[in-house]
Amino acid sequence: MLSLQPSSAAAPPNLSSTSKLSSFFNPVKTLKPLRPNHPPPIQSVLQWNRKPQLAGETPRVVVITSGKGGVGKTTTTANVGLSLARLGFSVVAIDADVGLRNLDLLLGLENRVNYTVVEVLNGDCRLDQALVRDKRWSNFELLCISKPRSKLPIGFGGKALVWLVDALKSRQEGSPDFIIIDCPAGIDAGFITAITPANEAVLVTTPDITSLRDADRVTGLLECDGIRDIKMIVNRVRTDMIKGEDMMSVLDVQEMLGLALLGVIPEDSEVLRSTNRGYPLVLNKPPTLAGLAFEQAAWRLVEQDSMKAVMVEEEPKKRGFFSLFGG
Ligand code: ADP
Ligand code: MG
Repeated sequence: MLSLQPSSAAAPPNLSSTSKLSSFFNPVKTLKPLRPNHPPPIQSVLQWNRKPQLAGETPRVVVITSGKGGVGKTTTTANVGLSLARLGFSVVAIDADVGLRNLDLLLGLENRVNYTVVEVLNGDCRLDQALVRDKRWSNFELLCISKPRSKLPIGFGGKALVWLVDALKSRQEGSPDFIIIDCPAGIDAGFITAITPANEAVLVTTPDITSLRDADRVTGLLECDGIRDIKMIVNRVRTDMIKGEDMMSVLDVQEMLGLALLGVIPEDSEVLRSTNRGYPLVLNKPPTLAGLAFEQAAWRLVEQDSMKAVMVEEEPKKRGFFSLFGG
């Protein structure tokens, strides 16, 4: 496998030379393959030889939210969370989607959840008993608020979640670098609870008008709650549809929401396959395009960086015989 030379110490992994995704990504400082005529296999893009610089105060408490359901919040939580763990940061992911909890399924940890936050608050178990360590990355832990299909426990609100975050900060093992909260859909009590302890938000949206309208509403609510650091992930993007003008471009989305862009994730059938296997996409070898895009988003999250939306490139025009003569 080829090794890559980073052109700059500050460069996040770059995909432009290797993948179809090039049209989505800001052409940030390029990583040059040693043999430029032979593009490296896609997995070599993941061979970063530096760790991203963690910006901001830890623990970074990040809520993953959207307004509309089914746009990819849980997928983002699982993939960005595990990417952060792979980059060496300690991560606690809180599944705050009470009743419809499925982060445990996406992570393949559903059989290991014996206790939830409800039992911790009732004094039936200790906090560390409710933390489920990932099978692959021991610096990633999952915490579920309640058992599946149960309602939000009476009296459980923002204050309880703030208490929980404080308890995580003062653990004997030390405070985690990231606490990621998977938010429920909608803007009712569950949403308010999930955003209360957060200092920053990742807004997941798909490039369609209903998702954007909800995202816009949620942005207003997050700002009202004092969360100023809001970045967005545009998920399920299809270049073919954008080219055919059947889908809004990422640039359009950015103009409509006016938010900094953390990542652009293409539509990828591997997402569903990995969900069903309980094996997050970012762990796939070789990685898929969506996996790489999540990995890049995690990198930017660490460094509090963002990307520019670029317009989908036009196909290079075929040069006909007459074009050689300027025709
Ligand atoms: P939410 O948590 O916002 O309700 P999920 O993360 O559960 O959304 O995703 C909803 C559905 O969309 C799942 O079936 C998931 O596999 C699918 N999905 C999410 N992102 C993508 C993607 N980039 N490409 C293809 N399918 C996706
Ligand atoms: Mg979800």
